[in-house]
Amino acid sequence: MSEEIFDLIVIGAGPGGYVAAIRGAQLGMKVAVVEKRGSMGGVCLNEGCIPSKALLDSSELYHLAKDRFAAHGIEVQPPTLNLGQMMARKEDVVKKLTDGIAFLFKKNKIVSFLGTATLLSPENGTHRVEVKGEETKVVSGKKVIIATGSEAVQIPALPFDGESVVSAREALSFPAVPEHLLVVGGGYIGLELGSVWLRLGAKVTVVELLPRLVAGSDGQVAEALLRSLKKQGMTFMLGGKVAGVEKKDGKLVARVEAEGGTTEISCDKVLVAVGRRPLTAGLNLEGLGIAMDGSRIRVDADYATNVAGIYAIGDLVAGPMLAHKAMEEGAVCVERMHGEPSQVDYGCIPGVCYTWPEAASVGKTEESLKEEGIAYKSGKFSFIANGRAKCMDETEGFVKLLTEAEGGRLLGVHILGPRASDMIAEAVTVMAFGGSGEDIALTVHAHPTLSEVMKEAALDLDKRAIHG
Ligand code: FAD
Repeated sequence: MSEEIFDLIVIGAGPGGYVAAIRGAQLGMKVAVVEKRGSMGGVCLNEGCIPSKALLDSSELYHLAKDRFAAHGIEVQPPTLNLGQMMARKEDVVKKLTDGIAFLFKKNKIVSFLGTATLLSPENGTHRVEVKGEETKVVSGKKVIIATGSEAVQIPALPFDGESVVSAREALSFPAVPEHLLVVGGGYIGLELGSVWLRLGAKVTVVELLPRLVAGSDGQVAEALLRSLKKQGMTFMLGGKVAGVEKKDGKLVARVEAEGGTTEISCDKVLVAVGRRPLTAGLNLEGLGIAMDGSRIRVDADYATNVAGIYAIGDLVAGPMLAHKAMEEGAVCVERMHGEPSQVDYGCIPGVCYTWPEAASVGKTEESLKEEGIAYKSGKFSFIANGRAKCMDETEGFVKLLTEAEGGRLLGVHILGPRASDMIAEAVTVMAFGGSGEDIALTVHAHPTLSEVMKEAALDLDKRAIHG
């Protein structure tokens, strides 16, 4: 029997890989996916976006029941935490979604191979991928997309031990609420997981090397988020560095170096969330001569590497390490193989920090506009003056719009507030269509909704906000 040759082999079934595979099948390609973990969906579904949001939603409900219901006239016995049930619900959400991807693969006649992939040298113009699973086999294909994603960065002074000093993976499944969780890194992963455990009763201290939170985000948003999280009880040591951790009398003692000297912090868990790096080990990229840009795979506008027929997408290649960026690249990469002129609009990729209030942004920050010497106008409006936010008792935060000084084209939008993650979609759409602040100001927004804050911020560009 002649060997089956796939049109496309996708390595990794994360958001980049699974979308590429499904889009490829929709376009008529015979697709195989190689995935080494037992379930589909990659980091995002199994140990990233989804379980973290499931826990953020559950812990937010717990906090509301404990501290906020009474103001709405709802009197409940002080709620008690059933952490086991909360974790079981999270696992259930993850399972339903990962099973959903497996179902979509079947529906689209995508063949899955379970095992670790290594690229072999091509033979007669056909790419070959060795899959080491229960048995070892070789899968052949005309084209290969590498979508193996990323892994947590480890600090030499704080090696992961899977129990006390951990990455996000373990912090999504602590068996009990830690007494004191030390979070190393004030980026979105550290703040989200810090928020989960804070709401569930832990003392949480965040140590961040920079003098601010969420590097690269709008400075005013970062400052307001810091104030809000402090008010919620989170402790911060900005401009500090965790130099090491040791065990003393059954506790962990972390040494934090800051300007004023070294402080010792006693805690029982350390979450290291200082970033992620591309996961390329074992793929044999060097063997095939695939060119890199530092730790990322170098690709062109087609997501093609320097080796004909081999492509790369998602966390492996340049750009923000975000699931929706990986998904877009997955679809666009395959559509371009198919001859379609698709592209990802890298200027319009939203970023969200799912704390409460949420921080969401798209496009340029004021800091980057100043650095680039671009003349801009700014319009800002606070949730405090919004009727719906008052009804919800969620009045913290603001929307800030940045537009070209001349012409008014929307350049960036930054939100701190309730459901900022959903609100940012309007800004992304207007920016993607090259729209202006005036386009938002002229658009009817339903009343009473949080989205009216976006309209008022647009009106504020010309100092004509109605309720401000
Ligand atoms: P991945 O999702 O990393 O998938 C790669 C897959 O490849 C994995 O399943 C892996 O097992 C497999 N693989 C690796 N090597 C091999 C091999 N040699 N052979 C076979 N299979 C292999 N992003 C957001 O946009 N929103 C969020 O809210 C968000 N929250 C996050 C929360 C946490 C705690 C973390 C850790 C990340 C979060 N992210 C979020 C980031 C997001 O998860 C990643 O950007 C996204 O998963 C990248 O997708 P990907 O397809 O490039 O790779």
